[in-house]
Amino acid sequence: MNKLKDLQFLEVKNKKMQLPAFLPDATLGFVRGVSSNDLLKCGIEGVVVNIYHLLHGELINKIKEKKGIGNYMKFPGIIISDSGGFQVMSLIHDNPQNGKINDDGATFLYNNKKTHLTPEKSVELQLSIGSDVVMCLDDCTYPDSSLEEQNISVKRTVEWAGRCKKEFLKLTKDMKANEKPLLFGIIQGGNNLDLRKKCADALKEIEFDGYAFGGWPVSQEGNFLNDILKYVAELMPENKPRYAMGVGRPEDIVACVGFGYDMFDCVIPTREARNNRLYSFKSNFFGFGLRKLKNNKKFYEYIRIRNLKYKTDKKPISKNCDCFACSNRNFTREQIYKMFKERDKEAIRLATIHNLRFYTKLMERLRNQ
Ligand SMILES: [Zn+2]
Repeated sequence: MNKLKDLQFLEVKNKKMQLPAFLPDATLGFVRGVSSNDLLKCGIEGVVVNIYHLLHGELINKIKEKKGIGNYMKFPGIIISDSGGFQVMSLIHDNPQNGKINDDGATFLYNNKKTHLTPEKSVELQLSIGSDVVMCLDDCTYPDSSLEEQNISVKRTVEWAGRCKKEFLKLTKDMKANEKPLLFGIIQGGNNLDLRKKCADALKEIEFDGYAFGGWPVSQEGNFLNDILKYVAELMPENKPRYAMGVGRPEDIVACVGFGYDMFDCVIPTREARNNRLYSFKSNFFGFGLRKLKNNKKFYEYIRIRNLKYKTDKKPISKNCDCFACSNRNFTREQIYKMFKERDKEAIRLATIHNLRFYTKLMERLRNQ
């Protein structure tokens, strides 16, 4: 029996999300191109926002004025907030003059403004916007970072996780059970199995409501880090949600569900939609079990809707899709081709709705194994 069957829902603050779940990235408090109503109609039950991106431009104040990110987004589903660790790493790793990370936290320039982010500050900010799942601030690395860097990252990630937990307990102690968010720990350690284990063991000792795979899930050469993701899933408690952060290619999600993960987020479906790349299941997808899906990565294909060959194509994007764009032949490829050519905003909306429905359909299929 699939171990995942043990955990069928993520429940928090009287909200419930079916697992395994795919959560699109609503980095700045919205998913580009679509409304929250569109998300719900696609079957999306949760999204991920990012505290690093919300830090600037008065966004956090605007969210507080609306009494929380759920009201701000008009989205009744589960909202996870990422701590900013990954973004800080990308910013500083690529351009060390942008800032520095030490044991206390990270200091960096964002839009030319000096900002200091500590584990405590990250938790406080995430709670201040009314996040449902708070992520610990972690010290992120690349898979091929040196052993010394990975060692420092794990040591810091564990220390910071302890500080996050302490701050979280302090700030949520007076909350009623149905108002309390969850706190997830993030496992670092790059490509090093011993370090991943060391990190996971220490985080389990602190105890979190869920655990996440942190760092890049893809090697520098673009290969999915299958073995390391599998190993880290096995280190996580089976009775807690397991979150594969940043994993988003359909075949990688299928593999990760097999490893035991049950939450995913990625920019792929929405970014690809804006780049006119539209996903479609092959007919055989509906007859496949999990094992067959894992062994046959060609269960889907995609079309580039701006391709000239769709100029006079009267078919829907996919005959296997029931999204708003495809169902009842609401829109033909010909119409969407034309919208893309004319840079009509509706083109992005329809393409995003379609790709998100592809992902929720994939998750529905994986739930029903
Ligand atoms: Zn569709």
